[in-house]
Amino acid sequence: MAEVQDLFKKIIAHSKEYGFVYQSSEIYDGLGGVYDYGPLGVELKNNIKAYWWKSMVQMHENIVGLDSAIFMHPTTWKASGHVDAFNDPLVDNKTSKKRYRADVLVEDFIQKIEDKIKKQVKKGIKRFGDDFDEAKFRATDGRAVQYAEKIKNIEERLGQAMTDNDMVALRDLIVELEIADPVSGSKDWTDVRQFNLMFSTQLGNIAGAEGKLYLRPETAQGIFVNFLNVQKTTRQKLPFGIAQIGKAFRNEIIARQFIFRMREFEQMEMQFFVKPGTEMEWYETWKTTRMNWHKALGTSPDKLRFHDHDALAHYANAAADIQFEFPFGFKELEGIHSRTDFDLTAHQEHSGKKLQFFDPVDNENYVPYIIETSIGADRMFLAMLSTAYTEEDVPDAKGGTAQRIVLKLNPVLAPIKCAVLPLLKNKPELVAKAKEIFDDIKLDFNCQYDEKDAIGRRYRRQDAIGTPYCITVDFDTLEDNTVTIRDRDTLEQTRINISEIADIVKEKISWKPVLKKL
Ligand code: ATP
Repeated sequence: MAEVQDLFKKIIAHSKEYGFVYQSSEIYDGLGGVYDYGPLGVELKNNIKAYWWKSMVQMHENIVGLDSAIFMHPTTWKASGHVDAFNDPLVDNKTSKKRYRADVLVEDFIQKIEDKIKKQVKKGIKRFGDDFDEAKFRATDGRAVQYAEKIKNIEERLGQAMTDNDMVALRDLIVELEIADPVSGSKDWTDVRQFNLMFSTQLGNIAGAEGKLYLRPETAQGIFVNFLNVQKTTRQKLPFGIAQIGKAFRNEIIARQFIFRMREFEQMEMQFFVKPGTEMEWYETWKTTRMNWHKALGTSPDKLRFHDHDALAHYANAAADIQFEFPFGFKELEGIHSRTDFDLTAHQEHSGKKLQFFDPVDNENYVPYIIETSIGADRMFLAMLSTAYTEEDVPDAKGGTAQRIVLKLNPVLAPIKCAVLPLLKNKPELVAKAKEIFDDIKLDFNCQYDEKDAIGRRYRRQDAIGTPYCITVDFDTLEDNTVTIRDRDTLEQTRINISEIADIVKEKISWKPVLKKL
């Protein structure tokens, strides 16, 4: 566990040191749950968003894009159920005066039991060696089975309490499991209360409740209210989808774990409109499609898993998460929800406007059902940083070994695609040549020119930010127009002609092989 915490701390420190993520308003001691993306962070995040957009909009003839406003008519949130039901259960510890999400306390408790199972598994590996069969072990080892049953039981009770909005049952569960405050160790809990997560503000020219506006807690509603606008202007037939990337805001009870749980974050959501009765088929299709999206980037399959919901939101008839193994355990990265016709029907009722589709094949009007795929751009960012972050030993120049930190990002996501480095900075002819090369290839992709420090240190700096290639300009370059190209992962250095650089890098960073896997 300490090792894991250590890794997480290192990732956070690395993010800051290299300009990926900063705490917001840091000079004022920061603002909880709000972060700023630095020069490299914005590039990585843009690349993540580009991957999502390409795979959704560019690759599907029946999915189109939208960019709706953050502010929406206040009735939107009444209709969607957010005013009445977008709550999280809040509990305070009387001793530490710290505030927690009651369901998260229980989930963290479950995580601890899962860690115990993992320990058992490790023991099993030691005992059985090559003959070890993990699935069989989990199903037959007395302790592992006991732990798994305990988890199942807690999950069921948590699910039931959340579905029923039963705050007393939730508190009983915390007390019964003897969950202690992680800060003070105290078990002195207040009652569990509901806490609405929406931020509100006031429209300039209208006073009082009438002018109360909310900052959207999800981007989805902007899609729903535009359903007919988009369908009519694009003449799409069902099934079709609308994709959107944008900011969302939630007044999270406790925002922690870095950019995993933020108060201002970005979502990438796609709402897929289908004929009623076909929704379960589409739900399964989108579950598979979205899992493949993650795997196509090269993320190890054992870092990803589905988690079907026991507790369903008020609008859903089926829901699953794609969980990722973050440094602090498996947690939700993306949600896939079958939202029924709840949203469109509610908006019809509250607006008095029909939100139906005329099906020319069946010659009938109906309110479509909706399958939603919703992923946080920031959580995806953290997932990518944490799988990419690697500390490893590499050969050094003196025949020994040295440690390096390298971000093994898929090249399509790398913030900088290629660095151009003159071997020595005090040789004007090398500098001039390197700059000439840089000025040419920067027309093709994002490059960096770096002349400061010894060449080895510059390589390390590029490794630490995940740059797939370094180009080094030396005295031979002046003679024969060749450079060395160094591969981030294999460390192999090859001599190539300057005219080949752009093509080699372009091939490495091409979206095509990734998109082909989808
Ligand atoms: P959680 O249970 O972790 O609070 P959720 O189930 O409320 O998440 P959804 O409403 O399904 O999340 O939102 C869809 C996606 O938006 C999530 O899978 C996640 O990637 C992202 N997301 C939600 N809340 C946050 C947040 N506070 N900070 C960053 N990303 C978030």
